Amino acid sequence: MLGSSVRSRVVFLALVAAVAASSYSGSVALAGHMSGWNHDHSKAGIPPRPSGLKELNDVFGQRCSDRSNNARSWWPHADWDPFGAGKYVEYHTYLARNIGFNIRNHINAAHRDGALYPGIGGYNCRLIDGSTSWSVHSWGAAVDTNWQRNPRYQDHWNGRGFDGQNYGTYIPDVWRGGFPGHRFFWGLSWPTAPDPMHFQYVTNY
Ligand SMILES: [Zn+2]
Ligand SMILES: [Zn+2]
Repeated sequence: MLGSSVRSRVVFLALVAAVAASSYSGSVALAGHMSGWNHDHSKAGIPPRPSGLKELNDVFGQRCSDRSNNARSWWPHADWDPFGAGKYVEYHTYLARNIGFNIRNHINAAHRDGALYPGIGGYNCRLIDGSTSWSVHSWGAAVDTNWQRNPRYQDHWNGRGFDGQNYGTYIPDVWRGGFPGHRFFWGLSWPTAPDPMHFQYVTNY
């Protein structure tokens, strides 16, 4: 009797330790998932982020050029149809590692693909709606995520994903950081025209 109760207590403590380790912090939880995917927080993985139109052009080059959409990754629920399989999202080669390696794989490795919701889109050669300025999407330097639930002018983030769960700001937190710190600027921060779906790799534009 004593032997079996000691044994079950040891099993119980091991379970507590495992649960504590996996929920302790993002880094510990992710550590177990680090194999089998590329994660790059070097200068190449998270390159310098430009500020203003001049630097945007210096770093990303001509808008609507080949380099603006020569990188892509597969995102579930990127299409309009909630039951669609997903779509490739295209963006600038400068962000190939930060989006394709880091952000996309963080979400997938954390088993949070359910936090995504239609639609998701990157490169788009167009003007900003209601403006004569070019959209950051024209440089392939912005991605809109979960736009059906997070339209422009909405002053908050709706974190409910495809699976119906509320993930809070999990998706925005992966785009921008603290941890893991992928350095995108969140369009929700614009005071006059908040754009919660929008994450871009330039400030002051
Ligand atoms: Zn990362
Ligand atoms: Zn956008």
